[in-house]
Formats: sequence, structure tokens, C-alpha cells
Amino acid sequence: MSVFIDLHMHSRFSRACSGDINLQNLESHARMKGIDVLATGDITHPTWVKELKSLDERDGLLVSKTGFHFFLSGEVSNIYQQDGQSRRVHNLVLVRNFEILDAMNSELEKYGKLSSDGRPILKMSSSQLIEALKNIDRTIEVIPAHIWTPWFSVFGSKSGFDSIKDCFQDMAKHIFALENGLSADPQICSLISGLDKYSIVSFSDSHSHWPLRIGREATNIESDFSFEGIVGAMKGKNINNTVEFYPQEGKYHYDGHRNCRFSSHPSKTPKDGKCPRCGGALTLGVLNRILELADRETPVTTQRALHAIPLQEIISFAFNSGPHGKAVWEEYEKAIHAFGSEFNVLFNAGEEELKDVLEKRVHKALMSVRNGDVSITPGYDGEYGKLSVGGQVRR
Ligand SMILES: [Zn+2]
Ligand SMILES: [Zn+2]
Repeated sequence: MSVFIDLHMHSRFSRACSGDINLQNLESHARMKGIDVLATGDITHPTWVKELKSLDERDGLLVSKTGFHFFLSGEVSNIYQQDGQSRRVHNLVLVRNFEILDAMNSELEKYGKLSSDGRPILKMSSSQLIEALKNIDRTIEVIPAHIWTPWFSVFGSKSGFDSIKDCFQDMAKHIFALENGLSADPQICSLISGLDKYSIVSFSDSHSHWPLRIGREATNIESDFSFEGIVGAMKGKNINNTVEFYPQEGKYHYDGHRNCRFSSHPSKTPKDGKCPRCGGALTLGVLNRILELADRETPVTTQRALHAIPLQEIISFAFNSGPHGKAVWEEYEKAIHAFGSEFNVLFNAGEEELKDVLEKRVHKALMSVRNGDVSITPGYDGEYGKLSVGGQVRR
């Protein structure tokens, strides 16, 4: 069956995360979104793990009392020296049960303080990480996280590598999927033939429990509700499609310097990598790195991407207000009540049925999004891209 998964999440124990992230909130909002299997996030954090143990284990997943499926996955930050350079790479770790998880955490404790952050810093290389995990249990899997972000990723301009092999060395054979991150999509990733053999997946990396963030990127696979099924689908490239941000909307699509409000397409970026306004270093973005490593002119992937804007955003455009207001939430709930989930509203519901339920201006904005009548000033250096929907900018 077709299943929407979001395997990159954070709990309230990660830095800069909402204090209200608990299992009840995650489940109810993931259901509203249309996510079938949600990452627990932060599986290395002792207090969060204690809380997760209230869930039942079944077929390598966790199940709530009301039958919702969670997936034991968390992010770690590998910080180390390799080839004379300092490296910072974020990796997602996937685990099938608490017994293996407990064994893993007692090992990882040797490399960093697991209780200090839901996404702990580990003083070990990415290849050492995989080696250590495979020694504990061969079913533990690693997916490199948001592979293009400048500061903390396998290909990042600041501290990354030029290939999966350079980063993971003889452990590279265990890599089967790559998380493309908000500023990229499977299409642009396919400009690089070296990535052809990997499943390109998308997850939210959400720091909040609201449906505005959970599942903002997600992956639709053919699988049953089991660890093996889900991992197997990614290993077999059995991906139906991914839900994607418009890459320009991500925080690091273009090059730039945020303080000076300077941004540029890589083709226009000064060759010395310096900000023309202040002379400081520019942050080279995702598109820059992709074009640097690209060996194709045009994308070749057959993997489908559904470019989406969260429904709360769309409503807030129609209302010309922020996405967190009460009126926006009421309209959102009404839509979910009528169609079952946000993904149904965004992708499946018929235009006429939608007309019966949604406010006229919301219906119009949603149709603009469906028809691709969206334009975006690209994001850069930590600044999200600026959206306009149907020619309208939000105040
Ligand atoms: Zn990360
Ligand atoms: Zn500057």
C-alpha cells in the first residue's frame, strides 16, 4: 500500500524546538497532515526515550494506543577532522527496537553527551559512526541528512565532501538513500550521475509539532507498516513520489550574505567568494554546490516530486495574515474535517468539492498553487525564500 513517511523529526529535547512537542500532539497533527509513519526524533536522548517506551513495539515500529505508527529515528551531528579539514555532517539513524537502541546509546555515549541535546554532537567520523552501529546490529541504518546545506552536511560548501565515498569511505556501501533537504528536490539532485543509485528522500526536519511543519516535506513509498518494509522500499528505490518545498523557498538555495541582504544566482556570484558589499565571506548555497558537482545539463530522474506549500500557509495568503492565527486554524480544521487530511486537500480533492467547503479566497489561492501560479524570491544564507501565490504577497 502507499504510505506517507516523515522520518526526520525533533522532540522538545532538541535545541530551538517547541516545548509542546509530545507524542499526543505529534500523533494528532501527523494524522491531520496525512503522514502515516512519523519519526519519533531524538532517539539518543535519555528522557525522550523513556517517554517513547510508553508505546508498543510492533514489526520494528512503535504503535500508540490509538494505532498510530512511529518510527525510531533521530539525527546526530558528526564533528571531526578528515583530510586536514574540520567536518560537520548530520546523519539520520534508523533503529528497529528498544533493545538495539539501548545498546546503541551505550556505545554512542563514548563519543558525546547524549543528554545535552536531542541532536547530540558525536566526536567520530561518519564512517566510524556506521562501523560502530553495524557492529551493534546490522539492521541499524544511516541516511545522510539534508545533504546540501552549507554548514552541516555531506556535500555542504563549508565542511562537506565532493562524494559519498569521500565522506563514508569503506562504509559507503551501506548508504542507500539521501535526504535532499528543503532547498533541493530529486530533479536537481539528478544533475549528478554519481547519485543515481540512491533513493532521494524528503523529510520535514520539523522543530515543531504543528502541521505547518510536520510533513512539510515527506516521502510516499510502497510498504506495509514495518521497519523492514519501509527500509526495504528505500533500498529498492520503491518511491512513489516525494512532497517537496519549492527548492527556491529553502533557506540556502542561492549564495549570499544575510547581514548585507546580498544574494545571487551561482552564475553571478563573485569568483572570490566575497560579499561585494562588506568583503566578508559569502555563504555558498545549495544550487552552487549542485552545479559545481553536476555532470549533466538537465535532470533525468523519473522519481516524481509533488511541490507543495503547507495548507496553513495557503490559507494565510488568502487571509493576508500570519499562518498561526485563529481564523487560519479554523479554516484549516474545517478543510481537514471534510477531506480527511491535508495531503488530500492539497493533492486529491476535486475542485468542485473543495469549492463547497473552503472559503472562496482560500479556494482561489489553493487553485493557484495547484496550477503552479507561484513565484519565489530564492532563499539564501539562512533566509527563507519569499513566496507569492497567485500574484499576491503576504503582508
Ligand atoms: Zn540537521
Ligand atoms: Zn556582506
